[in-house]
Amino acid sequence: MCLRLPQAVLALAIALNVLVFLCAWLRPGPSPRRRPPPRGGVPGVTVVLRDFEAFENDLAGTARSFAALPVPVVVAAETPPYPPVPLPASASLLLLQPDAARPPPRPELHVRTRHVALVPDGTRAAPALLENMRKALEEAADNATRLVAAPVGSRPLRCLDLRVERREWTARYSPAPPGTCRALEGDAVLLLRTRDLLALPFPLARPVGAALFVQAALRGWRLRVTPAAFPAARRAPLSPRGRRKAQELAETRRRRLLSELGVKREVLADGRERWYGCRKDTARCFGTVHAQTPEYLLAGRWTPPCCLRALRETARHVVAALEAAGVRYWLEGGSLLGAVRLGDIIPWDYDVDLGIYRDDVGKCRWLAAAAAAPVEDAEGFLWEKAVEGEFYRVHYSRSNRLHVDLWPFYARGEVMTKDTWLGHRQDVEFPERFLKPRVPVPFAGGTAMAPNNARAFLELKFGAGAVERPEYPNPALKRLERD
Ligand code: ZN
Ligand code: MG
Repeated sequence: MCLRLPQAVLALAIALNVLVFLCAWLRPGPSPRRRPPPRGGVPGVTVVLRDFEAFENDLAGTARSFAALPVPVVVAAETPPYPPVPLPASASLLLLQPDAARPPPRPELHVRTRHVALVPDGTRAAPALLENMRKALEEAADNATRLVAAPVGSRPLRCLDLRVERREWTARYSPAPPGTCRALEGDAVLLLRTRDLLALPFPLARPVGAALFVQAALRGWRLRVTPAAFPAARRAPLSPRGRRKAQELAETRRRRLLSELGVKREVLADGRERWYGCRKDTARCFGTVHAQTPEYLLAGRWTPPCCLRALRETARHVVAALEAAGVRYWLEGGSLLGAVRLGDIIPWDYDVDLGIYRDDVGKCRWLAAAAAAPVEDAEGFLWEKAVEGEFYRVHYSRSNRLHVDLWPFYARGEVMTKDTWLGHRQDVEFPERFLKPRVPVPFAGGTAMAPNNARAFLELKFGAGAVERPEYPNPALKRLERD
């Protein structure tokens, strides 16, 4: 031993101090308010009440019931509930809407426990149930199980599978094969680790279930359902007016949520679809396209499904109008490529291109009119002569500028040529024999005319292997294989 007695005493004292400090730091139980909780939080479950209507709720009863367990209760709302709700003294109010005069909202200061339960309005506490859910989560053998749900009331929960196709802006629900619960139908208490909840970009978005399930699915999280149910409070049914108001609010909230989450189409378990993207009366989902690369491609996504749907509709409408008028037209560029590859618009394309015989322009009353000034047809499509050059554009509507481009070609000798060239790779002259005859092909949910020997036509325009090797329109900017 080379340690002398005074040194040994000093070392022991330091060690004891460190030990006492660590014990105090890790001790479970309430910590001083407004200071961040220790990493991982203190043991226990905080109940968060988030989904409720300001004009009609059971907030006071629900909060009282859980506060009596006792567990910490947090009411989370944009602004203080109005009319005011008499909350138990131990409940805290988490205001989510930033206020210029106050510090920013910090949920982590309100939820200090290791676990958090999102509880629907009108739920009643039941002894040991939250604890059982917490155990079910911590005892799950796999790291993917991050959510535990328990039903509220007598209606059982229905488990659904949920796949979120980010690139396609689509959330797809389907009946869940055994053991793969990723979303629920029905009222449920949802329990998870506080750090998981607060690591989500939208931890307290409403409706709580839809918001959590989509974010969980994107992270590969699973959901486990415990059988025991929380009692539901007896509540007077809403008046017809109240019901209507609640439905309207729910619809608005759902729209806002899905737009925030980047979902423009939901495919429900029964096959029905809900759309949240652009319509005739809204603007196009993406801005002006530069260098043939729309903004969504740079964000790693493909054409929003609403836009593809509107483009298909516009293409079928224009094709029908041209055929009715006897205008000779054919699928051009990327649209022909899509038709040959999959009978449809390429899933990342942003417009439809048709070639037409310049001599036929006068046969179509809308094209003839558009030559002078933009004109809206009976179905609300807007026909105009492009300001960019000698070609025509048919927009989905006056507001939504998704469009079909019509390129007037004329024969010079045996070669088809035109007057405006945009410098795209596929923008080249071609022998007229490709149009003699034109042939019908499936396209965009209908049939459209295409050059004969479309493969050779495409290779002339895009280069060899164009059909077999899909590529983004401007590979110098963004390559398909990198996505
Ligand atoms: Zn759209
Ligand atoms: Mg195009």
